Amino acid sequence: MSQIVIDKVVKEYPVGRDTIVAVKNASLTIEKGSFVSIVGHSGSGKTTLLSLVGGMVSPTAGRVLFNGEDLYTWNSDRLSEYRCEQVGFMFQSASLLPILTAKENLMLPVAFRTRESPDNSHEQRADELLHAVGLSDKINTYPSQLSGGQQRRVAIARAFMNGPELILADEPTGDLDEETENDMMQFFLRMNKEHGTTFIMVTHNSDLARQTQQHLRMDRGVISAV
Ligand code: ADP
Ligand code: MG
Repeated sequence: MSQIVIDKVVKEYPVGRDTIVAVKNASLTIEKGSFVSIVGHSGSGKTTLLSLVGGMVSPTAGRVLFNGEDLYTWNSDRLSEYRCEQVGFMFQSASLLPILTAKENLMLPVAFRTRESPDNSHEQRADELLHAVGLSDKINTYPSQLSGGQQRRVAIARAFMNGPELILADEPTGDLDEETENDMMQFFLRMNKEHGTTFIMVTHNSDLARQTQQHLRMDRGVISAV
């Protein structure tokens, strides 16, 4: 069974009296453990597609299946659990809470888990992830004392905190220098290989896209294989 099936999905947004068709009849399957890149111009529907797969935006038509189940038939508790525990998100902005340290920002997703409360093992995991993104010396630092690129790396680490099966990454390295960007890509590839984590990553960097297995392009809401 494919991990993700996007089946004839349409997403329309009403804007005044008009309707914007952000995703036009998209069909796509993604196998567990694959690394998918998506390229496309601004406004082509990339973020909308990630949001549909992430259980954040319901389709106007069509279905989004995860391990054979239609996300949008789930009740809101099940959908929240999916977003919190099965998916890791890297949004276009780093979106850290300013009143929490780097480590506390990583602990936050654990607090929303339904099954366990945070303990030492989670603290250790937060430390390890911050180490993996090169921020061992910034564990107890607040976002305002971090550079934009460092904040970005905290957000990258945070996405792995709940051991997700799927990472949805929206230009996750867009604001990093070339060397750090390559380091983060190596980290993603390692997580993909060692843990079988599926990645769907929007990127404008063709060097990064080339390192992925499945290449997609979006053009005015239409998705195609490259
Ligand atoms: P991309 O990520 O490729 O830049 P988006 O998915 O953000 O594209 O947007 C696709 C289209 O849908 C754009 O025309 C955008 O203006 C529109 N759009 C996105 N989100 C909304 C929304 N919440 N309400 C109305 N229109 C939206
Ligand atoms: Mg976008």
